[in-house]
Order: sequence, then C-alpha cells, then structure tokens
Amino acid sequence: MRILDAHTHVDTRGLGDLQTLALFGLEALVTCAHDALPYSAPESLLDHFERLLDFDCRRLRSSAIAPYVALGVHPRGIPKRDVKQVLDKLPLLLTRQPVVAVGEIGLQDDTDEEREVFRSQLEIARQLNMPCVAHTPAGDKAAVTSEILSIVDAVGIDKSLILIDHVDERNFDLVRDSGCWIGLTVQSGKLSEERAAALVEVGDRDRIVLDSDLASSSSELLALPKTILELRKRGLPRPEIEKVAFDNACRLYRVNL
Ligand SMILES: [Zn+2]
Repeated sequence: MRILDAHTHVDTRGLGDLQTLALFGLEALVTCAHDALPYSAPESLLDHFERLLDFDCRRLRSSAIAPYVALGVHPRGIPKRDVKQVLDKLPLLLTRQPVVAVGEIGLQDDTDEEREVFRSQLEIARQLNMPCVAHTPAGDKAAVTSEILSIVDAVGIDKSLILIDHVDERNFDLVRDSGCWIGLTVQSGKLSEERAAALVEVGDRDRIVLDSDLASSSSELLALPKTILELRKRGLPRPEIEKVAFDNACRLYRVNL
C-alpha cells in the first residue's frame, strides 16, 4: 500500500520518527509551514521556511522519504509585525524546489487580520495556479469553514486547488458540496482512525485525502498505517484505500512518484 501523508510538520519530529514512518511504508510527505514559534518578526517566519526547504528535506531524503514542502502564513503564526514582508516574498519562495503548495493557511479565530492574510495568500495561489492547504479550527468548525469557502469563492481560485483540512462530521457535507478536496486528519483531538474510516466508507473517495498533521502535540506517529489497516478490516478494496492514502494527494499536489 502506497502512502503520501498530505499534511505534516516534520520540523517537530526527530530522525527516529522519520525512519519509523519509512519502515511503515510512508513514501512521501508534505511538510507545511506553521506556528512553530510565536514569530516576533517576519524574519523568524522566513527562517522557518528556509529550515523546511533545506534541513528537513535533507533529513527526509536520508530517511528514504520523498520530501515536499508547503509554504505560507498559518493563522496562528502571523508575525507580530510586518506580515506584508512575508507575503511580498512568498511568490518567489513558492517557485523553490520542492515546494508544491501554499500552506498551511486558513482561519483559526476568524479575525479581520486572519481573513486578510488568508485572502492575500489565496490570491497569490490563484495567480501562480498552486494548490493550497487550508486549516479549519477545532471550534466553530462549520461556521468558520463556511467563511473559508466564501473567501475562496470571492478570490475566484479553482476549487480543485483547495484542500480544506481537518474535516470531520460537522463540516464534511459542506466541504464535499463545495468541490474542494476533503482533508481527513487522523490525530488525537481530531479524527480517530475509526471515524476517518467511517467517513472514507461513505464519502466521495475521488476527493478525500488522508493526513496526520504530525506535529509537536500529536502523539500518533502511525496514524496513516493504522487508518489503512482499519479500512482493510472494513473490507474496502485496495485501490480505493490507495486513492485516499496516496493517489489523490499525488493528483492534488501534481507529483509523480
Ligand atoms: Zn498543520
């Protein structure tokens, strides 16, 4: 079974974890920029981007995992001053290898500043025709997802470029009906492997993408292998499982593996 984890933050994990993921069949992953620090200045976030592009890609390659990167301003990672400096540099940074998407972007508290930073990044993605990884928060899931989708509509970016992530039972129908990709994050505090498998069973499997959002606070390193096992136990045919664990992410990010 082939696995591409569509949303991780491997800067938070040690080499031992990366080697374990490779041992359990993970071939590739996307590591997304995030709120790794409370960024006091734009330079701090730009340094975070450089770490992902250089050090973390080297660590992944040495672990036999194909590295891909998403760069963007996370709603919880907006620098305390001058976010414009980051936004101005983003278009050129997005042309670097192996960047495949704008992310992690989205809304957390749905403030005016978050909405403006999100809108600006969607506009950059629209101009560059790049995929986006959009975070939805744990609270107010359906209402904030509606706000995210209305900003997506207002910018006019193609829905086939948008992964709405951390989808659960509260916003599944909304995201499915929107035409965006449906990201199911298997992690404690988000979906268990059983709940993710139940949504995969009934959902539109041509547009569902599994991910772990592996980060400092997520404890389940083997989220995707365990979800695949759960889907096998439920009798889902192998090609259908591989769609949500690998093929769809390859289509979204336009990678050939
Ligand atoms: Zn994340």
